[in-house]
Formats: sequence, C-alpha cells, structure tokens
Amino acid sequence: MGMTLFDSPSFANHEGVHAVFDEKTGLRAIIAVHSTARGPAVGGTRMWNYGSSAEALEDVLRLSKGMSYKNAVADLEMGGGKSVIIGDSRTQKTPELFHAFGKAVDTLGGIYYAAEDVGVSVADIAEARKVTPYVLGLSDGPEASGDPSPVTAEGVFRSTLTVARRLWKQDDLTGLTIALQGIGHVGGYLADKLHAAGAKLVMTDVNTALLSEVAARTGAEIVAPDAIYDVKADIYAPCALGATLNPQTLDRLTVKAVVGAANNQLATPDIGHKLFERGVLYAPDYVVNGGGIINVASEMKARQTGGAYDPQWVEGKLSRLMETLEEVLDRSAAEKRPTHEIADAIAEARINAARGHKPDHRKAA
Ligand code: NAD
Repeated sequence: MGMTLFDSPSFANHEGVHAVFDEKTGLRAIIAVHSTARGPAVGGTRMWNYGSSAEALEDVLRLSKGMSYKNAVADLEMGGGKSVIIGDSRTQKTPELFHAFGKAVDTLGGIYYAAEDVGVSVADIAEARKVTPYVLGLSDGPEASGDPSPVTAEGVFRSTLTVARRLWKQDDLTGLTIALQGIGHVGGYLADKLHAAGAKLVMTDVNTALLSEVAARTGAEIVAPDAIYDVKADIYAPCALGATLNPQTLDRLTVKAVVGAANNQLATPDIGHKLFERGVLYAPDYVVNGGGIINVASEMKARQTGGAYDPQWVEGKLSRLMETLEEVLDRSAAEKRPTHEIADAIAEARINAARGHKPDHRKAA
C-alpha cells in the first residue's frame, strides 16, 4: 500500500505535481512545482532508475522544496521546482525522449524551468530546447550561462574567508589547514583559490590521476578517501558527496568549521544540532553553494529580457548571498540556534513575504 500524494510528509504544500507519460517514447516523468511565489519555479531534471514511482515521487518532492529554499536564500526572483525522468540515463536516453519531456514542460507555460541534474546533460537540455523555451543551462548562444562551477567555487571561497574572519580574526587563510574532499568541477577551482589565499591543503578524491595533478599545482598533501575525516585540519570542505556529516563521521572530525560545495551535507537535521552543540561552525550548504544557481538565474533573466548573460548581475547577487551568510552566522550566535535552522527560517520568511505580496496568478488566470 503506497502513500497517497497529499498524505506524504514530503508533500509540503506543493502548488502542483504533474505526472507525465508519453506513449511513443515511453517517457515517465514527474514535474513538481513547490512554489511560484517568488517567480517561475526553477530546478534541474534528474534521470534516475528509481525502484518505484513512489520513490521517484518522494525524491522529486523533497528536491523541489529544497529548490524553493535555495532560490529564496540567494534572493532570486524564482520559485522552486524539480523534475525526474524515470529510467536509466546510460541506456534509455534518446533525443525523442527529451523532446517529449520538453513538450511536457512547455504545457506548463513557464511555471517551471528545467535544467541539468544527475543523469541529464547539456546535450539533453539542448534537445528539450527545440520544443520549449522553458529550459536553462545551455552552452551556446548569448543567453547561455555555461558551466556554473567557477561561480559556485567563488561563493564557497568567499564563505571560507567569512568563516576565517569570524573564527580566527584574519583576512586570508594563512596558517589554516583545509581538508578538501573532492577536486572535481567545483573542488578543482576551489583548491586554486584556497591555495592562493595561503591555506595548507590536505585533499582526497577517488580520481587519483586528477588528484595528483591538482595536488602538485597547489602543494597539497594527499590522503586516502576515507582518511579525510581524520585529518587534523581547521576546516572541512566537502565537495564530492552528500550526507558526509553523519553519526559515523561526527566523532572523527576535529575541525572548527565546515564550508563546502556539496549538496545535502547533513545526513539528518539533528547532525546540524550536534555540530552546533560541539561548537563547530557549519556554513549551510545551500547558502554556500548558491553561486551555481545564481549563474543559471542570469540565463533566465537574459531569456526574459532578450538580453545576454550578465557577469555583473551575477557578481551583485553573489555578494548579496555572502551578506545573507553573515546574517545567518550573526543570528545563529545571537539566538543560539544551529545555522541550518536560521538559513531555513530566512528562506521561509522570504517565500512567505512573496506569498503575501503577490497575487496568486493561478487564481487570476
Ligand atoms: P564533480 O562530479 O565534478 O566532482 C566531484 C568529485 O568528487 C569528483 O572528482 C569525484 O571523483 C569525487 N568523488 C566521488 N566520490 C568520492 C569519494 N568517495 N571521496 C572523494 N572524492 C570523491 O561535481 P561538482 O560539479 O564539482 O560538484 C561537487 C559537489 O557540489 C556535488 O555535491 C554537487 O551536487 C555540488 N554542487 C555543485 C555545483 C556546481 O556548480 N557544479 C553547484 C552546487 C552544488
């Protein structure tokens, strides 16, 4: 007996949940629109071989609500949504599948914009673009925002400086040791910035060829993937997987702060409380890594105004995001509450304020 939609704990007052089927291609997808209070719902499309449609539904609802919070905390005029395509991204992708998906997105008339996520590439989004304007994350054309990773890395870097200023009263990273997990798209750019600011790096990755290359140019020490939690460091920077802050790693970490790009770093919210009780400053993941979605938002803005990708606008939003991080840290100290709760409260307040001030366009239509 599966749970029904409205009873699911993940339902969280979603404005709309759209199940999509296409007979010709076999497309099975779910598009979840959590909130359009602040603007069109924006969030990536994940293609994953879910064990059941109930599992796909839970995932899309959870991720969609998360996008509402991430977009609000970055102060973007965007709501939150997400979509999932049920299937194996290695064997079941065709251009026709993404045309069918794009048509489904198009029927929503701009309430939801899709983009890349796990299992969905720039090329797939380019196929969907042939049938709908409501996709983001293109690599060609004047609006295209391209690879978001450098902007994400810049946000993580500035967040690290903010934390260093607060905990060690210094304006650079001289004398600080940072344990960096994952030196992929974001972690690679981040390693260079941290190194240039004077940090001593201890790093790991499962891609050993890439690891020795990045370690060589940043003078870093290399450790085995599982040893990263035991490094005697000042800051832990998770830039690979989610849920690395969990009951198993908590007692191994001796760092004073966690600042990294990975999504969903806390395995459960109570880990955020435990970090707080132990005096570890956790810079909330979706605040720290918001540079990526800011970069994507610039593409939507260009699409809507007929303009081009605007790096100055991106910079303005990124500095505003860093002000929000300062607000999160100030309030956490003043109210003696964990940082992840404060970030959620700020996001909720912004969403609710927009709900109060904007007419419900679905009723108005
Ligand atoms: P990526 O795939 O380019 O890099 C991840 C790296 O982690 C890879 O080099 C991989 O080999 C390594 N890795 C995998 N398993 C590992 C393990 N067990 N131990 C150590 N290293 C391991 O991804 P990315 O784009 O750099 O993103 C990194 C993280 O940041 C992800 O969690 C992603 O969701 C998040 N994020 C990325 C962006 C962005 O702009 N790319 C934006 C927001 C959040």
